[in-house]
Amino acid sequence: MGKVYVSQHPLIQHKLTVLRRRETEPKKFRELVHELSQFLLYEATLDLPLHPWQIETPLAPYDGRQIGVRIGLVPILRAGLGMVDPILDLIPTAHVWHLGLYRDHETLRPVTYYNKLPPHVDVDLCLILDPMLATGGSAAAAVSVLKEWGAAQIKFLGLIAAPEGVKALSDAHPEVDIHLAAIDERLNEIGYIVPGLGDAGDRQFGTG
Ligand code: URA
Repeated sequence: MGKVYVSQHPLIQHKLTVLRRRETEPKKFRELVHELSQFLLYEATLDLPLHPWQIETPLAPYDGRQIGVRIGLVPILRAGLGMVDPILDLIPTAHVWHLGLYRDHETLRPVTYYNKLPPHVDVDLCLILDPMLATGGSAAAAVSVLKEWGAAQIKFLGLIAAPEGVKALSDAHPEVDIHLAAIDERLNEIGYIVPGLGDAGDRQFGTG
């Protein structure tokens, strides 16, 4: 089973609680997704390799270090979009590829409707971004697409997961690390995470 990290950081736990509140309006919701994504990224990148980087300060030479991997961001449309800008703020050189997967309401299975991956792999680490890991179907399908494409290392970043989603993703792709802010109680009969926060896309974009 891949490693599952659930942040216990007090700032994350506080902000996640505000995010869940029914009263939190889209503007505030987007700000919180922005902040939470940056905190999660910080934790998910603790093991990034560094390369030596000799620089000059105004006073002396300095043996510095720079990030040694190329990073690709793969937001799952549409809710994952709100996690892109906060991560680009911190890693401006990251590439972004959009992957559109929707859940068939009958079968709850993912269907790929948009895939803008370039023909050749040009990154070392792919971060799949989706605030909600519900059934795990879309996440597992996204990992399969990336693996087929040739991605060497893949991590999943999300805000809230259902236990069912964590299990489905880990069982399908045990090598993928999963970084979360919370694992909730369960999925309901229509595939929503309970207690969750409702529809993460609707709540970001005011379409609910
Ligand atoms: N997607 C959402 O936006 N919310 C859920 O609870 C499950 C999937």
